[in-house]
Amino acid sequence: MFLNVQELELRKVHFSQSFAPGQVDLFDDRLRQRGPLKVEGTAELAGALGEIRVMGHITGTFETECDRCLSPMEIPIDGDLNLLYRPELEEDLVDEREISRAESEVGFYEGPGIELTDVVREQILLWLPMHPVCREDCRGICPICGQDRNQNLCGCHQEQIDERWSALKNIRS
Ligand SMILES: [Zn+2]
Ligand SMILES: [Zn+2]
Repeated sequence: MFLNVQELELRKVHFSQSFAPGQVDLFDDRLRQRGPLKVEGTAELAGALGEIRVMGHITGTFETECDRCLSPMEIPIDGDLNLLYRPELEEDLVDEREISRAESEVGFYEGPGIELTDVVREQILLWLPMHPVCREDCRGICPICGQDRNQNLCGCHQEQIDERWSALKNIRS
C-alpha cells in the first residue's frame, strides 16, 4: 500500500493489512517470518513541510537463531508503530529542532510518498535485537569443543570462566 502525500493532504489514511512471509523483506537471511504480520493504523500529514506520521500497531512472529548457541528461537512482535518521515529537502531548509527525536523515530522519504512495507520493515528492524539470545543466561557453544553448553557442560571452558570471575572481583575490590 502506497501512502501518497497528495492523498494525505486531503485526509488521514487508515490501513489494516496482513503481510504473508516474504512480503516484507528484512534483508537478513537469518530472520524468518512465521505466519502473518498484522499491521493496522493511520498515516497523516504532520507538518507544513510534508512530514508524514505513521502510527499503529504491529503483531507477528519471527524466527531466528540464538547468537550464542545457534538454536532456533522465536521473537514475538507486538508493539506500537510510531514513525515520522520527512521529505528529503535541502539541509538548510530543515530545522532539526522542530521535531523532538524523543517523540518518535524520524526517517526520510523521497518523491510522492512512502510504501507501507518500507515503514513496517523500518519499525521491525528498530525493534529486533542486534544479537538475539534464546535466554539471558544462555551459555552458548564452547569455542574449544563445540558443544552446546546449555545441554552439556563440558570442562574445557572452566578456565575462561574463572578468569572472568577474577576480573569481576578485581573491579569490585
Ligand atoms: Zn542460546
Ligand atoms: Zn568444551
